[in-house]
Amino acid sequence: MLNGWPVVIASDDDRPPNWENAKDMLMSTNSASPTTRATRPRIVILGGGFAGVTVAQALEHHLRTGEADVVLVSRDNAFVYYPLLPEIVPGQIRIEDILSPIRLVAPHARLLMGSVQAIDLDAQLVHVRYGLDHGPTDELTLPYDHLVLALGGIPATFNIPGINEYTYQIQRLGHAFALRNHLIDLLEQAEATDDRELRRALLTVVVIGGGATGVELAAAVEELLSRALHYYRGLQQSDYRVVLVHALERLLPEAPTALGDYAERMLHRRGIDLLLNRPVVQVEPDAVILKDGTRIAAHTVISAIGVQPHPLARALPVEHDRQGRIVVEPTLRVPAYPNVWAIGDLAAVPDPNTGSAYPPTAQHAIAEAETAAHNIAATLRGRPLHAIQYRTRGQMVTLGHRTAVAAIAGRVITGHLAWWIWRTYHLLRLPRWERRLRVVFDWTLDLFFPPELVRLPVSQLTPRANAAAPVAEPVSAPANPR
Ligand SMILES: Cc1cc2nc3c(=O)[nH]c(=O)nc-3n(C[C@H](O)[C@H](O)[C@H](O)COP(=O)(O)OP(=O)(O)OC[C@H]3O[C@@H](n4cnc5c(N)ncnc54)[C@H](O)[C@@H]3O)c2cc1C
Repeated sequence: MLNGWPVVIASDDDRPPNWENAKDMLMSTNSASPTTRATRPRIVILGGGFAGVTVAQALEHHLRTGEADVVLVSRDNAFVYYPLLPEIVPGQIRIEDILSPIRLVAPHARLLMGSVQAIDLDAQLVHVRYGLDHGPTDELTLPYDHLVLALGGIPATFNIPGINEYTYQIQRLGHAFALRNHLIDLLEQAEATDDRELRRALLTVVVIGGGATGVELAAAVEELLSRALHYYRGLQQSDYRVVLVHALERLLPEAPTALGDYAERMLHRRGIDLLLNRPVVQVEPDAVILKDGTRIAAHTVISAIGVQPHPLARALPVEHDRQGRIVVEPTLRVPAYPNVWAIGDLAAVPDPNTGSAYPPTAQHAIAEAETAAHNIAATLRGRPLHAIQYRTRGQMVTLGHRTAVAAIAGRVITGHLAWWIWRTYHLLRLPRWERRLRVVFDWTLDLFFPPELVRLPVSQLTPRANAAAPVAEPVSAPANPR
Protein backbone atom coordinates (compact mmCIF):
# COMPACT_ATOMS: atom_id res chain seq x y z
CA MET A 1 0.00 0.00 0.00
CA LEU A 2 1.22 3.48 -0.81
CA ASN A 3 0.08 6.25 1.48
CA GLY A 4 -3.07 4.39 2.29
CA TRP A 5 -4.11 3.77 -1.32
CA PRO A 6 -4.43 0.07 -1.84
CA VAL A 7 -2.45 0.36 -5.02
CA VAL A 8 -0.31 -2.19 -6.77
CA ILE A 9 2.86 -0.93 -8.40
CA ALA A 10 2.81 -2.77 -11.67
CA SER A 11 6.39 -2.54 -12.86
CA ASP A 12 9.57 -2.25 -10.83
CA ASP A 13 12.02 -2.92 -13.62
CA ASP A 14 14.50 -0.55 -15.22
CA ARG A 15 13.89 2.40 -12.95
CA PRO A 16 16.33 5.24 -13.13
CA PRO A 17 18.31 5.79 -9.91
CA ASN A 18 16.20 8.78 -8.75
CA TRP A 19 12.91 7.06 -9.42
CA GLU A 20 11.92 6.53 -5.76
CA ASN A 21 12.14 10.28 -5.11
CA ALA A 22 9.84 11.07 -8.00
CA LYS A 23 7.35 8.43 -6.88
CA ASP A 24 7.41 9.63 -3.26
CA MET A 25 6.88 13.19 -4.42
CA LEU A 26 3.82 12.23 -6.42
CA MET A 27 2.34 9.97 -3.79
CA SER A 28 2.94 12.19 -0.78
CA THR A 29 0.62 14.87 -2.16
CA ASN A 30 -2.42 12.78 -1.36
CA SER A 31 -1.61 11.03 1.86
CA ALA A 32 -4.35 9.63 4.07
CA SER A 33 -4.72 7.08 6.79
CA PRO A 34 -4.72 3.45 5.64
CA THR A 35 -7.25 2.45 8.28
CA THR A 36 -9.93 4.93 7.22
CA ARG A 37 -9.32 4.04 3.58
CA ALA A 38 -10.02 0.38 4.04
CA THR A 39 -13.40 0.96 5.65
CA ARG A 40 -14.79 3.52 3.18
CA PRO A 41 -16.18 2.96 -0.27
CA ARG A 42 -13.86 4.32 -2.94
CA ILE A 43 -15.26 6.30 -5.86
CA VAL A 44 -12.80 6.62 -8.74
CA ILE A 45 -13.53 9.29 -11.36
CA LEU A 46 -11.67 9.00 -14.67
CA GLY A 47 -11.27 12.37 -16.40
CA GLY A 48 -10.87 15.94 -15.17
CA GLY A 49 -13.07 17.69 -17.73
CA PHE A 50 -16.60 19.08 -17.45
CA ALA A 51 -18.11 15.74 -16.48
CA GLY A 52 -15.34 14.52 -14.13
CA VAL A 53 -14.84 17.77 -12.24
CA THR A 54 -18.59 18.40 -11.88
CA VAL A 55 -19.22 14.91 -10.50
CA ALA A 56 -16.41 15.44 -7.97
CA GLN A 57 -17.88 18.80 -6.93
CA ALA A 58 -21.42 17.43 -6.69
CA LEU A 59 -20.28 14.43 -4.64
CA GLU A 60 -18.92 16.86 -2.12
CA HIS A 61 -22.47 18.16 -1.59
CA HIS A 62 -24.15 14.78 -1.64
CA LEU A 63 -21.78 12.88 0.66
CA ARG A 64 -21.18 13.38 4.36
CA THR A 65 -17.58 13.99 5.44
CA GLY A 66 -15.75 10.67 5.52
CA GLU A 67 -18.58 8.76 3.84
CA ALA A 68 -16.43 7.80 0.85
CA ASP A 69 -13.02 8.45 -0.69
CA VAL A 70 -13.15 10.26 -4.00
CA VAL A 71 -10.15 9.88 -6.31
CA LEU A 72 -10.02 11.79 -9.60
CA VAL A 73 -7.59 10.59 -12.26
CA SER A 74 -6.71 13.06 -14.98
CA ARG A 75 -3.99 13.34 -17.60
CA ASP A 76 -3.67 17.06 -16.84
CA ASN A 77 -3.87 18.81 -13.50
CA ALA A 78 -6.01 21.59 -14.97
CA PHE A 79 -9.64 21.78 -15.93
CA VAL A 80 -10.03 23.31 -19.41
CA TYR A 81 -13.02 25.55 -20.15
CA TYR A 82 -13.33 24.52 -23.82
CA PRO A 83 -16.11 26.88 -24.95
CA LEU A 84 -13.68 29.82 -24.63
CA LEU A 85 -10.86 27.98 -26.41
CA PRO A 86 -11.50 29.55 -29.86
CA GLU A 87 -10.88 32.97 -28.24
CA ILE A 88 -7.24 31.96 -27.76
CA VAL A 89 -6.64 31.87 -31.52
CA PRO A 90 -7.16 35.61 -32.15
CA GLY A 91 -5.52 36.30 -28.76
CA GLN A 92 -8.58 37.81 -27.08
CA ILE A 93 -7.79 35.89 -23.94
CA ARG A 94 -4.70 34.17 -22.65
CA ILE A 95 -4.37 30.46 -22.47
CA GLU A 96 -4.13 30.34 -18.68
CA ASP A 97 -7.44 32.24 -18.37
CA ILE A 98 -9.40 29.15 -19.34
CA LEU A 99 -7.44 26.76 -17.14
CA SER A 100 -8.26 26.08 -13.51
CA PRO A 101 -6.23 23.83 -11.24
CA ILE A 102 -8.35 20.76 -10.47
CA ARG A 103 -7.01 20.86 -6.93
CA LEU A 104 -8.78 24.20 -6.45
CA VAL A 105 -12.04 23.52 -8.28
CA ALA A 106 -12.56 20.06 -6.77
CA PRO A 107 -10.56 20.28 -3.52
CA HIS A 108 -12.25 17.37 -1.78
CA ALA A 109 -11.30 14.81 -4.41
CA ARG A 110 -7.78 13.37 -4.41
CA LEU A 111 -6.23 14.17 -7.73
CA LEU A 112 -3.95 11.62 -9.34
CA MET A 113 -2.33 13.16 -12.40
CA GLY A 114 -1.71 10.24 -14.68
CA SER A 115 -2.88 8.58 -17.83
CA VAL A 116 -5.45 5.80 -17.63
CA GLN A 117 -4.08 2.81 -19.52
CA ALA A 118 -6.70 0.13 -18.99
CA ILE A 119 -9.98 -0.49 -17.19
CA ASP A 120 -11.00 -3.92 -15.92
CA LEU A 121 -14.71 -3.78 -15.11
CA ASP A 122 -14.92 -7.37 -13.85
CA ALA A 123 -11.97 -7.10 -11.48
CA GLN A 124 -12.96 -3.48 -10.59
CA LEU A 125 -9.48 -2.14 -11.30
CA VAL A 126 -8.08 0.82 -13.21
CA HIS A 127 -4.48 0.86 -14.44
CA VAL A 128 -2.86 4.30 -14.45
CA ARG A 129 0.52 5.41 -15.75
CA TYR A 130 2.01 8.40 -13.97
CA GLY A 131 5.34 10.15 -13.80
CA LEU A 132 7.28 13.03 -15.27
CA ASP A 133 6.77 14.24 -18.83
CA HIS A 134 10.35 13.59 -19.88
CA GLY A 135 11.34 11.34 -16.99
CA PRO A 136 10.55 8.05 -15.37
CA THR A 137 7.02 6.69 -15.40
CA ASP A 138 5.37 3.87 -13.56
CA GLU A 139 1.98 2.20 -13.35
CA LEU A 140 -0.32 1.71 -10.46
CA THR A 141 -3.54 -0.21 -10.15
CA LEU A 142 -6.49 1.45 -8.45
CA PRO A 143 -9.32 -0.70 -7.11
CA TYR A 144 -12.73 0.97 -6.92
CA ASP A 145 -16.18 0.45 -5.44
CA HIS A 146 -17.79 2.93 -7.85
CA LEU A 147 -16.29 4.01 -11.15
CA VAL A 148 -17.23 7.14 -13.09
CA LEU A 149 -16.18 7.08 -16.75
CA ALA A 150 -15.68 10.69 -17.87
CA LEU A 151 -12.71 10.56 -20.26
CA GLY A 152 -14.44 12.61 -22.96
CA GLY A 153 -13.61 12.09 -26.60
CA ILE A 154 -10.90 12.38 -29.21
CA PRO A 155 -11.12 14.12 -32.59
CA ALA A 156 -13.22 12.23 -35.12
CA THR A 157 -11.48 11.21 -38.35
CA PHE A 158 -14.23 9.52 -40.43
CA ASN A 159 -11.31 7.49 -41.83
CA ILE A 160 -10.26 10.41 -44.04
CA PRO A 161 -6.64 9.70 -45.07
CA GLY A 162 -4.21 12.28 -43.74
CA ILE A 163 -6.61 13.94 -41.32
CA ASN A 164 -4.69 12.84 -38.23
CA GLU A 165 -1.28 13.47 -39.71
CA TYR A 166 -1.69 16.85 -41.37
CA THR A 167 -4.39 18.82 -39.60
CA TYR A 168 -4.52 20.97 -36.51
CA GLN A 169 -7.18 19.69 -34.19
CA ILE A 170 -8.76 21.60 -31.41
CA GLN A 171 -9.70 18.90 -28.95
CA ARG A 172 -6.90 19.65 -26.52
CA LEU A 173 -5.54 22.83 -25.09
CA GLY A 174 -2.12 22.47 -26.68
CA HIS A 175 -3.75 22.37 -30.10
CA ALA A 176 -5.24 25.87 -29.87
CA PHE A 177 -1.94 27.16 -28.58
CA ALA A 178 0.07 25.47 -31.35
CA LEU A 179 -2.35 26.74 -33.98
CA ARG A 180 -2.07 30.33 -32.78
CA ASN A 181 1.73 30.17 -32.76
CA HIS A 182 1.72 28.63 -36.21
CA LEU A 183 -0.56 31.33 -37.67
CA ILE A 184 1.65 34.10 -36.33
CA ASP A 185 4.66 32.26 -37.71
CA LEU A 186 3.02 32.21 -41.14
CA LEU A 187 2.28 35.94 -40.97
CA GLU A 188 5.97 36.57 -40.26
CA GLN A 189 7.08 34.32 -43.13
CA ALA A 190 4.56 35.83 -45.55
CA GLU A 191 5.75 39.32 -44.66
CA ALA A 192 9.33 38.28 -45.40
CA THR A 193 8.73 37.11 -48.97
CA ASP A 194 8.08 39.11 -52.14
CA ASP A 195 6.62 36.10 -53.90
CA ARG A 196 2.85 36.82 -54.01
CA GLU A 197 1.91 33.25 -54.77
CA LEU A 198 3.94 31.93 -51.89
CA ARG A 199 2.38 34.55 -49.61
CA ARG A 200 -1.10 33.48 -50.64
CA ALA A 201 -0.23 29.79 -50.12
CA LEU A 202 1.25 30.52 -46.70
CA LEU A 203 -1.82 32.44 -45.63
CA THR A 204 -4.48 30.05 -46.91
CA VAL A 205 -6.20 28.35 -43.99
CA VAL A 206 -8.73 25.58 -44.55
CA VAL A 207 -11.14 24.63 -41.77
CA ILE A 208 -12.89 21.29 -42.27
CA GLY A 209 -16.29 20.99 -40.61
CA GLY A 210 -19.25 23.38 -40.52
CA GLY A 211 -20.54 22.53 -37.04
CA ALA A 212 -20.29 24.94 -34.14
CA THR A 213 -16.56 24.39 -33.52
CA GLY A 214 -15.63 24.70 -37.22
CA VAL A 215 -17.67 27.89 -37.64
CA GLU A 216 -16.17 29.45 -34.50
CA LEU A 217 -12.64 28.52 -35.57
CA ALA A 218 -13.00 29.83 -39.12
CA ALA A 219 -14.32 33.11 -37.68
CA ALA A 220 -11.51 33.24 -35.11
CA VAL A 221 -8.78 32.64 -37.71
CA GLU A 222 -10.24 35.29 -40.03
CA GLU A 223 -10.39 37.73 -37.13
CA LEU A 224 -6.74 37.13 -36.24
CA LEU A 225 -5.56 37.55 -39.84
CA SER A 226 -7.67 40.62 -40.61
CA ARG A 227 -6.70 42.42 -37.39
CA ALA A 228 -3.02 41.47 -37.73
CA LEU A 229 -2.83 42.84 -41.27
CA HIS A 230 -2.59 46.40 -40.00
CA TYR A 231 0.75 45.57 -38.35
CA TYR A 232 2.23 43.64 -41.29
CA ARG A 233 2.72 46.47 -43.73
CA GLY A 234 3.85 44.26 -46.61
CA LEU A 235 0.65 42.23 -46.58
CA GLN A 236 -2.74 43.02 -48.10
CA GLN A 237 -6.20 41.62 -47.56
CA SER A 238 -5.98 39.67 -50.81
CA ASP A 239 -2.93 37.81 -49.44
CA TYR A 240 -4.92 35.69 -47.03
CA ARG A 241 -7.76 33.28 -47.56
CA VAL A 242 -9.89 31.39 -45.06
CA VAL A 243 -11.90 28.48 -46.46
CA LEU A 244 -14.59 26.58 -44.56
CA VAL A 245 -15.32 23.19 -46.12
CA HIS A 246 -18.44 21.37 -45.00
CA ALA A 247 -19.79 17.98 -46.10
CA LEU A 248 -23.44 19.00 -45.61
CA GLU A 249 -25.69 21.57 -47.25
CA ARG A 250 -25.93 24.05 -44.42
CA LEU A 251 -23.78 25.26 -41.56
CA LEU A 252 -24.60 24.36 -37.95
CA PRO A 253 -26.71 21.34 -38.96
CA GLU A 254 -27.42 20.51 -35.32
CA ALA A 255 -29.00 23.96 -34.67
CA PRO A 256 -32.24 25.60 -35.88
CA THR A 257 -32.04 26.61 -39.57
CA ALA A 258 -32.07 30.33 -38.76
CA LEU A 259 -28.76 30.01 -36.89
CA GLY A 260 -27.02 28.28 -39.78
CA ASP A 261 -28.40 30.82 -42.27
CA TYR A 262 -27.21 33.77 -40.20
CA ALA A 263 -23.78 32.20 -39.68
CA GLU A 264 -23.50 31.63 -43.42
CA ARG A 265 -24.33 35.26 -44.21
CA MET A 266 -21.89 36.62 -41.63
CA LEU A 267 -18.96 34.42 -42.64
CA HIS A 268 -19.62 35.19 -46.29
CA ARG A 269 -19.62 38.91 -45.52
CA ARG A 270 -16.21 38.52 -43.86
CA GLY A 271 -14.82 37.04 -47.06
CA ILE A 272 -14.58 33.47 -45.80
CA ASP A 273 -14.99 31.01 -48.69
CA LEU A 274 -17.82 28.63 -47.84
CA LEU A 275 -17.67 25.32 -49.67
CA LEU A 276 -20.88 23.58 -48.64
CA ASN A 277 -21.92 20.08 -49.61
CA ARG A 278 -18.29 19.38 -50.53
CA PRO A 279 -16.95 16.42 -48.53
CA VAL A 280 -13.19 16.16 -47.99
CA VAL A 281 -11.71 12.83 -49.10
CA GLN A 282 -8.04 13.35 -48.32
CA VAL A 283 -5.65 15.71 -46.60
CA GLU A 284 -2.06 16.03 -47.85
CA PRO A 285 0.83 17.90 -46.21
CA ASP A 286 0.04 21.06 -48.20
CA ALA A 287 -3.44 20.51 -49.60
CA VAL A 288 -6.99 19.35 -49.06
CA ILE A 289 -8.68 17.16 -51.68
CA LEU A 290 -12.47 17.31 -52.07
CA LYS A 291 -14.76 14.56 -53.37
CA ASP A 292 -15.36 16.44 -56.63
CA GLY A 293 -11.60 16.42 -57.30
CA THR A 294 -10.93 20.02 -56.23
CA ARG A 295 -7.50 20.47 -54.68
CA ILE A 296 -7.09 23.39 -52.28
CA ALA A 297 -3.45 24.25 -51.60
CA ALA A 298 -3.04 25.30 -47.98
CA HIS A 299 -0.25 25.41 -45.43
CA THR A 300 -2.73 25.18 -42.57
CA VAL A 301 -5.60 22.75 -42.32
CA ILE A 302 -7.76 22.61 -39.22
CA SER A 303 -10.05 19.68 -38.57
CA ALA A 304 -13.26 20.31 -36.66
CA ILE A 305 -15.36 17.38 -37.82
CA GLY A 306 -16.54 16.36 -34.38
CA VAL A 307 -15.57 14.04 -31.59
CA GLN A 308 -15.56 10.30 -31.20
CA PRO A 309 -15.70 8.64 -27.78
CA HIS A 310 -12.46 7.93 -25.97
CA PRO A 311 -10.81 4.68 -27.23
CA LEU A 312 -10.78 3.24 -23.69
CA ALA A 313 -14.57 3.66 -23.53
CA ARG A 314 -15.04 2.03 -26.92
CA ALA A 315 -12.88 -0.94 -25.86
CA LEU A 316 -15.02 -1.79 -22.81
CA PRO A 317 -17.22 -4.91 -23.01
CA VAL A 318 -20.47 -2.94 -22.69
CA GLU A 319 -23.20 -1.81 -25.10
CA HIS A 320 -22.24 1.03 -27.45
CA ASP A 321 -24.32 3.15 -29.83
CA ARG A 322 -23.46 3.59 -33.52
CA GLN A 323 -20.95 6.31 -32.71
CA GLY A 324 -19.20 4.12 -30.14
CA ARG A 325 -20.58 5.89 -27.07
CA ILE A 326 -21.40 3.82 -23.99
CA VAL A 327 -25.16 3.30 -23.74
CA VAL A 328 -26.36 4.13 -20.23
CA GLU A 329 -29.66 3.97 -18.37
CA PRO A 330 -31.45 7.27 -17.62
CA THR A 331 -29.78 7.07 -14.19
CA LEU A 332 -26.37 7.22 -15.95
CA ARG A 333 -25.62 3.68 -14.82
CA VAL A 334 -23.93 1.31 -17.26
CA PRO A 335 -26.26 -1.69 -17.69
CA ALA A 336 -24.84 -4.93 -16.22
CA TYR A 337 -22.38 -2.96 -14.06
CA PRO A 338 -24.39 -1.37 -11.23
CA ASN A 339 -21.32 0.40 -9.79
CA VAL A 340 -20.14 1.92 -13.11
CA TRP A 341 -21.44 5.27 -14.38
CA ALA A 342 -20.70 6.87 -17.77
CA ILE A 343 -21.14 10.60 -18.45
CA GLY A 344 -20.06 13.35 -20.84
CA ASP A 345 -18.87 12.97 -24.42
CA LEU A 346 -18.23 9.22 -24.12
CA ALA A 347 -21.80 8.34 -23.04
CA ALA A 348 -25.04 7.97 -25.00
CA VAL A 349 -27.51 9.41 -22.51
CA PRO A 350 -31.19 9.27 -23.48
CA ASP A 351 -32.84 12.71 -23.59
CA PRO A 352 -36.31 12.21 -22.04
CA ASN A 353 -37.61 15.18 -24.08
CA THR A 354 -36.61 13.93 -27.53
CA GLY A 355 -35.91 10.21 -27.10
CA SER A 356 -32.50 10.48 -28.80
CA ALA A 357 -29.14 10.82 -27.05
CA TYR A 358 -27.99 14.21 -25.76
CA PRO A 359 -25.38 15.90 -27.98
CA PRO A 360 -21.75 15.99 -26.78
CA THR A 361 -21.67 19.41 -25.16
CA ALA A 362 -20.53 20.87 -21.87
CA GLN A 363 -24.03 21.78 -20.68
CA HIS A 364 -25.10 18.14 -21.00
CA ALA A 365 -21.90 16.80 -19.43
CA ILE A 366 -22.56 19.01 -16.39
CA ALA A 367 -26.20 17.93 -16.05
CA GLU A 368 -25.24 14.26 -16.40
CA ALA A 369 -22.51 14.62 -13.78
CA GLU A 370 -24.95 16.15 -11.30
CA THR A 371 -27.42 13.29 -11.75
CA ALA A 372 -24.65 10.67 -11.54
CA ALA A 373 -23.33 12.18 -8.28
CA HIS A 374 -26.82 12.12 -6.78
CA ASN A 375 -27.27 8.50 -7.82
CA ILE A 376 -23.89 7.31 -6.53
CA ALA A 377 -24.70 8.81 -3.12
CA ALA A 378 -28.20 7.28 -3.27
CA THR A 379 -26.71 3.85 -4.10
CA LEU A 380 -24.31 4.07 -1.15
CA ARG A 381 -27.28 4.79 1.13
CA GLY A 382 -29.68 2.32 -0.46
CA ARG A 383 -32.04 5.06 -1.67
CA PRO A 384 -33.93 5.30 -4.99
CA LEU A 385 -32.12 6.69 -8.02
CA HIS A 386 -33.17 9.66 -10.19
CA ALA A 387 -33.49 9.60 -13.97
CA ILE A 388 -31.91 12.56 -15.76
CA GLN A 389 -34.47 15.26 -16.60
CA TYR A 390 -32.33 17.91 -18.25
CA ARG A 391 -33.82 20.01 -21.05
CA THR A 392 -31.29 21.55 -23.48
CA ARG A 393 -31.04 25.27 -22.66
CA GLY A 394 -30.03 26.64 -26.02
CA GLN A 395 -27.18 27.01 -28.46
CA MET A 396 -24.73 29.85 -29.03
CA VAL A 397 -22.01 30.22 -31.63
CA THR A 398 -19.54 33.10 -31.94
CA LEU A 399 -18.85 34.51 -35.38
CA GLY A 400 -15.88 36.80 -34.68
CA HIS A 401 -15.70 40.61 -34.67
CA ARG A 402 -18.05 40.77 -31.66
CA THR A 403 -20.96 38.96 -33.24
CA ALA A 404 -22.66 35.69 -32.46
CA VAL A 405 -25.86 33.82 -33.09
CA ALA A 406 -27.93 32.14 -30.40
CA ALA A 407 -31.13 30.17 -29.95
CA ILE A 408 -32.39 30.58 -26.40
CA ALA A 409 -35.80 29.43 -25.18
CA GLY A 410 -37.00 29.14 -28.79
CA ARG A 411 -35.86 32.67 -29.74
CA VAL A 412 -33.12 33.42 -32.23
CA ILE A 413 -30.81 36.26 -31.24
CA THR A 414 -28.09 37.58 -33.55
CA GLY A 415 -25.26 40.10 -33.80
CA HIS A 416 -23.73 42.06 -30.93
CA LEU A 417 -26.52 41.22 -28.48
CA ALA A 418 -25.99 37.49 -29.01
CA TRP A 419 -22.25 38.00 -28.61
CA TRP A 420 -22.78 39.88 -25.35
CA ILE A 421 -25.07 37.12 -24.03
CA TRP A 422 -22.51 34.49 -25.10
CA ARG A 423 -19.70 36.24 -23.28
CA THR A 424 -21.73 36.91 -20.13
CA TYR A 425 -22.97 33.32 -19.98
CA HIS A 426 -19.52 31.80 -20.30
CA LEU A 427 -17.96 34.32 -17.96
CA LEU A 428 -20.41 33.31 -15.26
CA ARG A 429 -19.91 29.60 -15.94
CA LEU A 430 -16.13 29.84 -15.78
CA PRO A 431 -14.92 28.37 -12.49
CA ARG A 432 -13.41 30.73 -9.90
CA TRP A 433 -13.75 34.50 -9.61
CA GLU A 434 -10.03 35.02 -10.07
CA ARG A 435 -10.23 33.51 -13.58
CA ARG A 436 -13.37 35.49 -14.41
CA LEU A 437 -11.61 38.73 -13.48
CA ARG A 438 -8.64 37.80 -15.63
CA VAL A 439 -10.92 37.14 -18.59
CA VAL A 440 -12.76 40.45 -18.12
CA PHE A 441 -9.40 42.18 -17.92
CA ASP A 442 -8.14 40.53 -21.11
CA TRP A 443 -11.38 41.25 -22.97
CA THR A 444 -11.20 44.88 -21.89
CA LEU A 445 -7.58 45.23 -23.01
CA ASP A 446 -8.50 43.66 -26.31
CA LEU A 447 -11.15 46.34 -26.89
CA PHE A 448 -8.65 49.18 -26.64
CA PHE A 449 -5.29 47.78 -27.70
CA PRO A 450 -3.82 46.08 -30.79
CA PRO A 451 -4.16 42.30 -31.09
CA GLU A 452 -1.64 40.09 -29.30
CA LEU A 453 0.90 39.05 -31.96
CA VAL A 454 3.58 37.41 -29.87
CA ARG A 455 4.62 33.97 -31.01
CA LEU A 456 5.74 31.86 -28.06
CA PRO A 457 8.37 29.33 -29.12
CA VAL A 458 7.76 27.13 -26.07
CA SER A 459 9.07 23.94 -27.65
CA GLN A 460 12.55 25.49 -27.60
CA LEU A 461 12.55 25.96 -23.84
CA THR A 462 13.38 22.47 -22.58
CA PRO A 463 16.97 21.44 -21.80
CA ARG A 464 16.51 18.65 -24.35
CA ALA A 465 15.74 21.21 -27.08
CA ASN A 466 18.81 23.20 -26.03
CA ALA A 467 20.94 20.10 -26.45
CA ALA A 468 19.48 19.46 -29.89
CA ALA A 469 20.13 23.01 -31.04
CA PRO A 470 22.89 24.49 -28.88
CA VAL A 471 23.14 28.25 -28.81
CA ALA A 472 26.21 29.15 -30.86
CA GLU A 473 28.93 30.88 -28.88
CA PRO A 474 30.21 34.04 -30.58
CA VAL A 475 33.46 33.03 -32.30
CA SER A 476 35.26 36.16 -31.17
CA ALA A 477 34.22 35.87 -27.51
CA PRO A 478 37.24 36.07 -25.27
CA ALA A 479 38.06 32.85 -23.40
CA ASN A 480 38.40 34.79 -20.15
CA PRO A 481 36.44 38.05 -20.19
CA ARG A 482 38.40 39.34 -17.20
C1 LIG B 1 -13.15 24.07 -29.15
C2 LIG B 1 -14.35 23.56 -28.43
C3 LIG B 1 -15.42 24.42 -28.18
C4 LIG B 1 -16.54 23.97 -27.49
N1 LIG B 1 -17.57 24.84 -27.24
C5 LIG B 1 -18.64 24.41 -26.52
C6 LIG B 1 -19.68 25.32 -26.17
O1 LIG B 1 -19.64 26.50 -26.55
N2 LIG B 1 -20.71 24.86 -25.43
C7 LIG B 1 -20.77 23.56 -25.00
O2 LIG B 1 -21.74 23.19 -24.30
N3 LIG B 1 -19.81 22.67 -25.33
C8 LIG B 1 -18.74 23.06 -26.06
N4 LIG B 1 -17.75 22.18 -26.39
C9 LIG B 1 -17.91 20.75 -26.04
C10 LIG B 1 -17.51 20.50 -24.60
O3 LIG B 1 -16.26 21.06 -24.32
C11 LIG B 1 -17.48 19.00 -24.36
O4 LIG B 1 -18.75 18.46 -24.66
C12 LIG B 1 -17.13 18.71 -22.90
O5 LIG B 1 -15.80 19.11 -22.66
C13 LIG B 1 -17.31 17.23 -22.59
O6 LIG B 1 -16.94 17.01 -21.27
P1 LIG B 1 -16.22 15.66 -20.84
O7 LIG B 1 -15.94 15.78 -19.40
O8 LIG B 1 -17.00 14.50 -21.34
O9 LIG B 1 -14.86 15.63 -21.66
P2 LIG B 1 -13.62 16.60 -21.50
O10 LIG B 1 -14.03 17.94 -21.01
O11 LIG B 1 -12.90 16.52 -22.80
O12 LIG B 1 -12.74 15.92 -20.37
C14 LIG B 1 -12.08 14.69 -20.56
C15 LIG B 1 -11.02 14.58 -19.49
O13 LIG B 1 -10.42 13.30 -19.54
C16 LIG B 1 -9.01 13.44 -19.47
N5 LIG B 1 -8.42 12.28 -20.14
C17 LIG B 1 -8.56 11.88 -21.42
N6 LIG B 1 -7.88 10.74 -21.63
C18 LIG B 1 -7.30 10.42 -20.46
C19 LIG B 1 -6.50 9.34 -20.01
N7 LIG B 1 -6.13 8.34 -20.83
N8 LIG B 1 -6.07 9.34 -18.73
C20 LIG B 1 -6.43 10.33 -17.87
N9 LIG B 1 -7.21 11.35 -18.23
C21 LIG B 1 -7.64 11.41 -19.50
C22 LIG B 1 -8.74 14.76 -20.17
O14 LIG B 1 -7.47 15.27 -19.81
C23 LIG B 1 -9.89 15.59 -19.62
O15 LIG B 1 -9.55 16.09 -18.34
C24 LIG B 1 -16.61 22.61 -27.06
C25 LIG B 1 -15.53 21.75 -27.32
C26 LIG B 1 -14.40 22.21 -27.99
C27 LIG B 1 -13.25 21.27 -28.22
